[in-house]
Amino acid sequence: MRHRIAVVGSGPAGLAFARVLHRHGHPVTVLERDPAPDARPPGGTLDLHEGLGQLALDKAGLLAEFRALSRPEGQAMRVLDTDGTVLRDWRPGPQDRANPEIDRGQLRDLLLGPLDVQWGRAVTRVVPGTREGVVVHCADGRQEAFDLVVGADGAWSRVRPALSPVTPHYTGVTSVETSLDDVDTRHPGLARLIGDGSVGVYGVNRALVAQRSSGGHVRVYAQFRAPLDWHADLDPADVEAVRSHLLDLFDGWAAPVLDLLRHGAAFVHRPCYVLPVSHTWAHVPGVTLLGDAAHLMPPLGAGANLALLDGAELAESIAAGPEDPDGAVRAFEERMWARAARWAKITTAGLERLVSPDPAQALALFDHVQPS
Ligand SMILES: Cc1cc2nc3c(=O)[nH]c(=O)nc-3n(C[C@H](O)[C@H](O)[C@H](O)COP(=O)(O)OP(=O)(O)OC[C@H]3O[C@@H](n4cnc5c(N)ncnc54)[C@H](O)[C@@H]3O)c2cc1C
Repeated sequence: MRHRIAVVGSGPAGLAFARVLHRHGHPVTVLERDPAPDARPPGGTLDLHEGLGQLALDKAGLLAEFRALSRPEGQAMRVLDTDGTVLRDWRPGPQDRANPEIDRGQLRDLLLGPLDVQWGRAVTRVVPGTREGVVVHCADGRQEAFDLVVGADGAWSRVRPALSPVTPHYTGVTSVETSLDDVDTRHPGLARLIGDGSVGVYGVNRALVAQRSSGGHVRVYAQFRAPLDWHADLDPADVEAVRSHLLDLFDGWAAPVLDLLRHGAAFVHRPCYVLPVSHTWAHVPGVTLLGDAAHLMPPLGAGANLALLDGAELAESIAAGPEDPDGAVRAFEERMWARAARWAKITTAGLERLVSPDPAQALALFDHVQPS
């Protein structure tokens, strides 16, 4: 008998899970809240690591397509002092494919491929242990029962309460995101500053990071320590008021660096929330979590990679032993928890050093992780 499997969420975790199951010929229902794949901007760029995200794409049979789409040159990373002095300037070698970059939208389309996602299906709650199986309730009033429900629905997961009472907490570091388009033609000075990949500028308790996506698109993140309501007196729709607030916050930094904020189109507030470093739960038959829903951590280059690998590994285990999906889930959970805890420790410590009272900490971190 085929088990009825559903995954909630079509981010990297949910799509990797569904795509690998699909590759093994196992049907899976994908429930996604967004009304369409392009209902909101897909976001910036992601670097996929050889042993994590790239391994997951290999399991999905998509590594060659990833290599054709991704940007190895995007691995370049420059670190500047707040006065604009270049402190480090790493460029990848011609054969360096450790962490090539790919636009989030390209990755989503690559994974989507032949999958039949049910768009506009916002899950409100999941009830395990009923006579019909695990019942999924949706905001459209429909409900459906499955043998296994996989929550890949991100930071504010609606599946998680079926397993764990834990909710994300604020780290004290917030980020305001803006973006620039056609940077090579419209802002050639900034294009040179950013280079082929990313530039990071680290000051006392604040940082500015700019990352190039394809097509001359750049995402800029202003990160700083602040209470959650730091913008209580600001109208978020008033772009110039937010810009002026940020320019005050980064006052004294080199003019070309501040141009990243001066030319940004609009500003989105993204406070950094995390789950506890070792978030686990007592196993509940028929329900599990993947990706950010299971182990939300600071956005330092690991979350999407782990989400992809979680999805691919769980799907592979289920495909290898389809008669006992719950056994596969149990074994997978132990593996995922151990791996996620390792990365949560690394990224939590990393955030402390990157948005730190001592900017030398940030440089030391880069020297530690970048090949010389
Ligand atoms: C600014 C920023 C930069 C980052 N950069 C990197 C990076 O360079 N490298 C990296 O590895 N990671 C990075 N991350 C982290 C990465 O984005 C996440 O870890 C990753 O997206 C998690 O994937 P996911 O599939 O678990 O969740 P998500 O990507 O959050 O996907 C969840 C999906 O579930 C859907 N959903 C939510 N609720 C429901 C519901 N109730 N019903 C149905 N569907 C629902 C959502 O619409 C979404 O499609 C970054 C994060 C941020 C914020």
